[in-house]
Amino acid sequence: MPEKMKALQKTFPQPGAEIKEIPIPEVKPGLVLVKVEVAAICGSDQAVYRWPKHIAAKTSPPFTMGHEYCGMVVDVGSNVQNFSVGDRVVGETHVPCGNCYMCRGGTQHLCINMKSVGKTYDGCFAEYILVPESCLIKVHKNINPSLGAIMEPLGVAVHALQKTNPCGETLAVLGCGPIGLMTIAVSKQMGAHIVFATSRSDAKLNMAQKMGADYQFNSRQDSVVEAVKAATNDEGVDTVIEASGSKEAFIEGLEILKRHGKFCLLGIPTEPVLFDADLFLIRKELNITGVWGRKMYSTWMLVDQLIASGKLNVNPLIGDVYRIEDYASAFEEAASGTVQRIFLSPG
Ligand SMILES: [Zn+2]
Ligand SMILES: [Zn+2]
Repeated sequence: MPEKMKALQKTFPQPGAEIKEIPIPEVKPGLVLVKVEVAAICGSDQAVYRWPKHIAAKTSPPFTMGHEYCGMVVDVGSNVQNFSVGDRVVGETHVPCGNCYMCRGGTQHLCINMKSVGKTYDGCFAEYILVPESCLIKVHKNINPSLGAIMEPLGVAVHALQKTNPCGETLAVLGCGPIGLMTIAVSKQMGAHIVFATSRSDAKLNMAQKMGADYQFNSRQDSVVEAVKAATNDEGVDTVIEASGSKEAFIEGLEILKRHGKFCLLGIPTEPVLFDADLFLIRKELNITGVWGRKMYSTWMLVDQLIASGKLNVNPLIGDVYRIEDYASAFEEAASGTVQRIFLSPG
């Protein structure tokens, strides 16, 4: 076993990142050392890389970036119960404390002392990552590692659908980045009746159709509110999942919902959103909620079953794999408006 490894780190509080040679972390009780096979670049890694104000306020370099990965267990600390050397694993991004009232109440995905892999806990854009066993999920030995690495964002989509349960209903997914597209594909497997997709990009809307959307509207050209109303007898939809983070889409989502409809936010707005509480909360009695990561572990179990069923096809969302040294090109492609997840391979 070598002593040093390559890691893509945020070392300075400004845009960019750099490859460093750092010691491979040593296992300790309860911790598992994973050799990373492949890691995906998420929108939030992109934010850490570009370093806008809202990220700068919440993170302090130096740290190793990255949180969506698939790898092999190469060493386990004492007291590790559920993993052994040779297991293929994927990672949960959120590191809960296990002791606070949220953790003890069975809602550890909302831990009040949460650490976040790739931001406040050293991440997976490295040859190895050391994590508590509570943050690992065992997967099938033969899974495509890139598919394994996107089980984490797939979990965000599944969590939003667990929370809104659109079985037999009409659903609108606003925004067709990778997680919006995953939401469309999973919603069809979970029994959504008619699915509307909106985006500003025709390329993304084409992919939305491949993922199973029944209607696609380009919000640059179409009035989303009028188009959805026209397609639903003026009634609107039962459920909206907002996956774009745009303030305009948020308001459109409230407008296209039926009275008493369900609204779930998973796109992260970068600034506060103002809306008419009288109209939407009181007169329409909308149910507005959001999701933070994945439930530990009912979401992971459902993701695993959806993949095992062989019916969910998210392979078109799996994009290029770059060597970790070529991270600058990988981040460029990931920011180019591609519909696919882009990956880094540290090996
Ligand atoms: Zn992510
Ligand atoms: Zn906690």
